[in-house]
Amino acid sequence: MKIANSKVSAVRLVEDALKKAHDFEDYNIFTFLNDEVVLKKAREIDEKIARGEKVGKLAGVPYALKDNFLSPDGETTASAHILQGFTSPVTATAVTKLEEEGAIMIGRTNLDAFAHGSSTENSYFGPTLNSHDRERVAGGSSGGSAVAVALGIVEFATGTDTGGSIRQPASFNGVYGLKPTYGCISRYGVVAMASSTDCIGFFTKSTEDMDLLMSIASGKDSKDLTTLDDYYNNNETKKVKKIGVIKEFDNESVDKNIRDALKKKCELLKSRGYEIVELDMPALKYALAAYYIIVPAEIASNLSRYDGVRYGFRSENSKGLNELYANTRDEGFMPENKRRIMIGNFVLSSGFYDAYFLKAAKVRTLIVKEYEEAFSKCDFILTPVSPNPAFKLGEKVDDPVAMYLEDLMSVSLNLAGVPGLAIPAGKTASGLPIGLQIVGPRRSDKNLIEFANVLKEEA
Ligand code: GLN
Repeated sequence: MKIANSKVSAVRLVEDALKKAHDFEDYNIFTFLNDEVVLKKAREIDEKIARGEKVGKLAGVPYALKDNFLSPDGETTASAHILQGFTSPVTATAVTKLEEEGAIMIGRTNLDAFAHGSSTENSYFGPTLNSHDRERVAGGSSGGSAVAVALGIVEFATGTDTGGSIRQPASFNGVYGLKPTYGCISRYGVVAMASSTDCIGFFTKSTEDMDLLMSIASGKDSKDLTTLDDYYNNNETKKVKKIGVIKEFDNESVDKNIRDALKKKCELLKSRGYEIVELDMPALKYALAAYYIIVPAEIASNLSRYDGVRYGFRSENSKGLNELYANTRDEGFMPENKRRIMIGNFVLSSGFYDAYFLKAAKVRTLIVKEYEEAFSKCDFILTPVSPNPAFKLGEKVDDPVAMYLEDLMSVSLNLAGVPGLAIPAGKTASGLPIGLQIVGPRRSDKNLIEFANVLKEEA
């Protein structure tokens, strides 16, 4: 990570980043660029350096913020019409921690509205283009953040991962993307999608940068009672010997390039003395179904606050309060948001609660147990992130089920609360990035990042 010091000024770093952001404007990466404020912040850092004062670990480092993190810099829209015009009075804890160390947010990045999606095509502002092929999707929901890092505009970007939204776009664009253990980083000040699976994480180009960011952003926060103690900075490195691969994920529905990449990495691991263990995890085949019941249920509840009175957009010309709510929500949400609100309310309604929500909650428990059992047999698991590399723009956007199937291999980690790191693992014959993910037990985040070095591209 390039940090401002006596040789490189913070002004220079952010000017370069802003220039690149403008050069790549047609990729539709940013929902907001922070041009004026950033130069002022950079100058302050340069002045401190000139005076010989101590600066933070991220002094002058330009970064991009997924547009579902609250901060008073620019509107926080979550790429949804219903939040347009909303400027937050509060700042997310993760943002505060990064900025206390001197990081400078140059812009907010595009996402599927409210992070519902796997391609960034559900954004009110239109899709972000893939960094390696402009006819393909960026992945999602954190598509803008992944592309901003892949194209070298910023050193790092933030993301949220409720069911794969960091790992899948990271793998579609050939960068690192970490979904930490649930509760590792505070969710305070981040637009809620599904509170029991939402995780905050990062996109970087190296494992070293990922480690640095985690050491800064993780830890207990009194504003988010689900945060864990600061284990990240206190864990000892564990010796890794056995790597599991999941039998259920090795089948014809997974792209051959991806299966080959996984095999290649397994050979590399064996040649380095690691043991490969085959795992049976039969409950995982129900993970997607359970996810698409539990998550919409939480979405329906979390999105009920957007009523046209408290935040952002309000539909005019409504007669009475009920019509104001209905019109605002109808005009302000994207079709995918509405679909999830309807599914969520349906699975929670009396008469269907037992058949759907309760069943899904039981499946979730089985998945938690299955991971616990798996980690009694191996230290980490290596799997694909998604069944295919980046697909064509428009290919799945009108077929919700095809889009949901994208999340087949990513959602079980969120249901179980375990960490997963997407790593670049080569390219397809046509040059599209391939990603794999390393999955670990809860609280193994630091070891996971260190272990990724063994699997580095050039290794
Ligand atoms: N693609 C998944 C979904 O649509 C995950 C989204 C996310 O992690 N925010 O729910």
